[in-house]
Amino acid sequence: MPELPEVETVVRGLNQTVAGRTITRVRTKAPRTSIVTGKSFGNKSFSSILKDKTILNIRRRGKNILIELSGDITLWAHLKMTGRFLYLDSKTPVDKHDLAIFDFDKKSGGYHLRFHDVRRFGRLRLFSNDELWQQPGLASLGPEPFDISIDEFIRLFRSSSRMIKPALLDQRFIAGIGNIYADESLHFAKIHPRKLTNRISKKKLTELRLHINRILRKAIKHMGSSVDNYAGVNGKPGTYQKYLQAYGNEGKACSHCGSKIVREVIGSRSAHYCPRCQRL
Ligand SMILES: [Zn+2]
Repeated sequence: MPELPEVETVVRGLNQTVAGRTITRVRTKAPRTSIVTGKSFGNKSFSSILKDKTILNIRRRGKNILIELSGDITLWAHLKMTGRFLYLDSKTPVDKHDLAIFDFDKKSGGYHLRFHDVRRFGRLRLFSNDELWQQPGLASLGPEPFDISIDEFIRLFRSSSRMIKPALLDQRFIAGIGNIYADESLHFAKIHPRKLTNRISKKKLTELRLHINRILRKAIKHMGSSVDNYAGVNGKPGTYQKYLQAYGNEGKACSHCGSKIVREVIGSRSAHYCPRCQRL
């Protein structure tokens, strides 16, 4: 699933391509679960609400993409497993997984935007700005990794007694981190994924926060990790996967000590770690 660096890359790609554009037409062939419109729109369709709206700005909150539109409305997108936004020549043959197609004014030079999703867990949700932040998926989000101070970070981890790996994946605890960057951060900070959040020293937590920030920034610089089918708005994959030290490295030598990285299911997700460097 795309995580903070991949979603940030998509947001930057959208700002470079569709910000300022006015939507002239929207075609959808998504299953009803993929597209949601807020109560304030009554019976109006997704396509009719979006027609003639201008894209003002695109921003990220956690793994969520917020496309701010004229008329005080926001298109809230979540890529989930395989969702992608692709900006391409409108003459490109439409694929059966192109679930929504957004056409723009002439300034876009024959290019348009598609929401493409093979597994169809992705979501496009349209809300008035008044309704938007009341939605549970946004209202309950934890702090952004880049915004949280060291004191707040320590307080957050001290506030609960749970295994750190599932805590890092919980978007209500901290937003944006998923399996890849949780495994990488814990590996660099040398913290066992089962360690309880309130049993970690201040020194270790300080290191962890630095590693999370450093790794996420480096991954953004490399346009994210393409370990499955992730690609940016330009269709190009990310390149951070070549820097991964723990995630997906089961059986390979730990970069710190040479021991074999192990994979273990923790909290129903697989965790990759070095049993020698990351002791419980
Ligand atoms: Zn090691």
